[in-house]
Amino acid sequence: MHDEYVLGADVGGTNLRIAAVAADGTILHEVSSPTPKTAPAQGVIDEIVSAAQKCVEELADSPRPKSFGLALAALVNPTVGRILRAPNLPQLDDLQLVDIVSDALGLDVVIENDATAAAIGEHWLGSSRATRNSVFVTLGTGVGGGLILEGRPYRGEDGTAGEIGHICVEPDGVPCGCGSHGCVEQYASATAIVRIAKELAGSDPTSSLAGKSELTSLAIYEAGVAGDRVAQQTFATMGRYLGIALAGLVDVLNPGLIVIGGGPAGAWDLFIEHVRTEINERAFQHPSKSVRLVRASLGGSAGILGAARLAFDSLQPRAQAESSLY
Ligand SMILES: [Zn+2]
Repeated sequence: MHDEYVLGADVGGTNLRIAAVAADGTILHEVSSPTPKTAPAQGVIDEIVSAAQKCVEELADSPRPKSFGLALAALVNPTVGRILRAPNLPQLDDLQLVDIVSDALGLDVVIENDATAAAIGEHWLGSSRATRNSVFVTLGTGVGGGLILEGRPYRGEDGTAGEIGHICVEPDGVPCGCGSHGCVEQYASATAIVRIAKELAGSDPTSSLAGKSELTSLAIYEAGVAGDRVAQQTFATMGRYLGIALAGLVDVLNPGLIVIGGGPAGAWDLFIEHVRTEINERAFQHPSKSVRLVRASLGGSAGILGAARLAFDSLQPRAQAESSLY
């Protein structure tokens, strides 16, 4: 028997995770399954609904949850409950997901972009807990971002704000999936780190990475720690580009904290001084001095916890939700 709980979900291009989350952020039960990437929209919806029902059944002794927060790797409009564009799951484009899932489960449903949800999770229970203005960046297959401004998530006019990965850092640079060129995602994601290492190793046969076709950002990090110059140069390049993007945000937003998460953030000691150097050299002195760079602390659960937090907030009267724990 537990007290009141809500459901939180993180629906990515690869995995779909749903958890029952208590009011203090404790994950009571979690269900994980592969995202049915090639299924039609209804197949993805059925998987979400079925995983949610499994969570509820597992906690059958507790009061039934009243709300469900869904974080998705997509541009979403949380206000109207619609997915605008889902590059990894294009069958969900333009889907009024909130109404469909709400009808299927008989719960209030709220949706959010996954990186914004992770920013909310870190702000609720993680690294940015005591900071009113913070920028969250997550490094993975792409580069995601979320903004907490004046203690609240900032979503912009249509709900799409915070797409830090698509700040341009190289005007004629590598083409990006978003349609632009030279986005920071093409220089600081795990995918980009592997590409940069292969490019650099191609002209340095003495590198331990030379000629390796199956590289990961972790293997490159390990080579860097072992002294490989190409691996170190890869993270210096990645850190420089990330720093260029973040320097612009430091000038625009004057954040107290920049929280960096995702797998490649584990290579912190190889890239962070390069990020810091770019911020110091490019942004104004006062906001540069104020901003602290820290690692995310909730790992892969930040998105689920942020989604759960939104679900709890949706149960409160609006004014009370906006002035509460954030
Ligand atoms: Zn882009």
